[in-house]
Amino acid sequence: MLKGKTALVTGSTSGIGHGVAKCLAAHGANVILNGFGEYEAAKAEIAALGVKAGYHGADMSKPEEIEAMMAYATQEFGGVDILVNNAGIQHVANVEDFPVTKWDAIIAINLSSTFHTTRLAIPAMREKNWGRVINIASTHGLVASAQKSAYVSAKHGVIGFTKAVALETATTGITVNAICPGWVLTPLVQKQLDARGLADGTDDAESKRRLLAEKQPSLQFTTPEQLGELTVFLCSPAADNVKGVAWNVDGGWTAQ
Ligand code: NAD
Repeated sequence: MLKGKTALVTGSTSGIGHGVAKCLAAHGANVILNGFGEYEAAKAEIAALGVKAGYHGADMSKPEEIEAMMAYATQEFGGVDILVNNAGIQHVANVEDFPVTKWDAIIAINLSSTFHTTRLAIPAMREKNWGRVINIASTHGLVASAQKSAYVSAKHGVIGFTKAVALETATTGITVNAICPGWVLTPLVQKQLDARGLADGTDDAESKRRLLAEKQPSLQFTTPEQLGELTVFLCSPAADNVKGVAWNVDGGWTAQ
């Protein structure tokens, strides 16, 4: 279905981004990966699906590196048709103890990078009169949790940004939407589980049980594959008129 399209997935060397990238490639899209750490294996996995795979190591907190990544996408792939803004980090602390550098990094990576990639991708999407911008927000874009002021602010911002750009492009073939996962078992969440285990003296299984029981009524983690399939749906013609939504995949978290 996505043959001939190019997808850029930020933060796709790990976790949700990696799962979404694989799913888009499995449906025929060429994929540009981004993120820190080892990427060769992830890139080889994408190429093995018979599509063109690329990688750019731009730091999503640096606008000039984002500009270089978007120029790479134009030169090597003829532009970005599907933009998945996924890169994100977390830090947990009460507001009075929140390190200023962590606040700045979370706002830059989780929110401002979405502005930069989107502003650079939209002109070519307008020319083609087709495009998809899919922002991986969070349940924390809809509701809050204590000790996550920067993350909650950034994710609420991502949802506001999604709606504004969806309106700006409403009469075109471009759609802009957000996906709001609940708990997904990735390195970002494992760090929080480890910290809770240390604080509560619980093992990993008990920490997971408690984490889910607190917020996610299904008591199941959402998977990167489920988020990948929803991304593919949002790229399909069936979703041509889905504009500006924040779609939660959270086991009932925000239904409470
Ligand atoms: P993860 O830590 O597994 O992956 C994060 C990815 O972002 C990695 O590829 C990492 O290298 C990349 N990254 C981090 N900082 C970067 C930077 N400055 N520049 C470029 N890349 C950078 O995390 P994840 O759980 O897969 O999270 C992905 C997204 O999903 C994040 O936006 C997160 O907020 C969101 N999310 C996660 C959950 C969850 O439960 N895991 C729930 C809701 C939303």
